[in-house]
Amino acid sequence: MPPINLYSDTQTRPTQGMRAAIAAAEVGDEQRGLDPTTRALEDRVAELLGHEAAVFLPSGTMCNEIALRLHMRPGGDELLVDRTAHPVNFEAGGPAQLSGAMVRTLDGEGGVFTAAQLEAAVREPGNRYAPRSRLVSVEQTTNIGGGRVWPRETIREVLDAAHRHQLRAHLDGARLMNAVVATGIPASEFAGGFDTAWVDFTKGLGAPVGAVLAASRELIDEAWRWKQMLGGAFRQSGIVAAGCLYALDHHVERLAEDHANARKLAEELATMPGVRLDPATVQTNIVIFEVDDAPGLVARLADLVELQAIDAHRLRAVTHLDVDRAGVEQALAAFSEALSV
Ligand SMILES: *Cc1c(COP(=O)(O)O)cnc(C)c1O
Repeated sequence: MPPINLYSDTQTRPTQGMRAAIAAAEVGDEQRGLDPTTRALEDRVAELLGHEAAVFLPSGTMCNEIALRLHMRPGGDELLVDRTAHPVNFEAGGPAQLSGAMVRTLDGEGGVFTAAQLEAAVREPGNRYAPRSRLVSVEQTTNIGGGRVWPRETIREVLDAAHRHQLRAHLDGARLMNAVVATGIPASEFAGGFDTAWVDFTKGLGAPVGAVLAASRELIDEAWRWKQMLGGAFRQSGIVAAGCLYALDHHVERLAEDHANARKLAEELATMPGVRLDPATVQTNIVIFEVDDAPGLVARLADLVELQAIDAHRLRAVTHLDVDRAGVEQALAAFSEALSV
């Protein structure tokens, strides 16, 4: 039997239904605005996120990097972001190379920082010694923070603080729909107040390629210049956009199953010897827990369960479309065995 794959929610394969939608997609030249399926996806995401316009991009990483570049001028502009955030840790130093940015990290709780922490970090305007604070970025849900949902109130307070200090605001919505399903709050309420916001289709939504960045018409026109420059413009991208549209129709509500499976995983793991985990912190599909030797446990489980060691002690397990309740139970049996020796 192949191992239960809790490595990431990026591990999903397109379902038969998604493959059928992909096979039937109407296509055209996307760079010329002639791919009807991609345009339909962009319109749908713009509306979903409460923004005027949107652009289809190959990845969430490109959404982040283009958005950062839209908001910052190279040379001394500063990004304020949680220390666990994706652009800080997993985008190959892109903010430095592509935006010439200073990055100032905040020490949030599970990746969620407060308006007070933001205000304490913002530089005094006009101080010629200091970098120019320019942009704040929020990750909904937090990834290495453990799948936490930013409460709507905290987002509002952070946006208010950003406006008071003339900062732009960006939402990394790689797992925004997980937050929507976990809370029942519409995506537009989480994303509407940001200058730029995006959703990923290759995480829990289960599509093979694609992410959509939303903003004002003006910012999206400018984003298109960067998309072209970086080689992110497509030809017949309806082939992949069809998978994303299919995901919006069929894979959003079911994220609740992933959340229930993650909770089950967390509750049982927390009772096992040598595991440090508070199951109450697990709000969506990501379970982060501590053991004495994280890489050792990953190696010992390799044939039965795939998961990632974040560092010497912390592990991340992620539930998704391709892991059902029986898979979670099988993984728990393997954990129990490996942790009892
Ligand atoms: C995965 C992820 C990204 C990057 O998305 P890709 O589509 O993999 O490039 C950005 N931010 C967060 C929080 C993520 O989890």
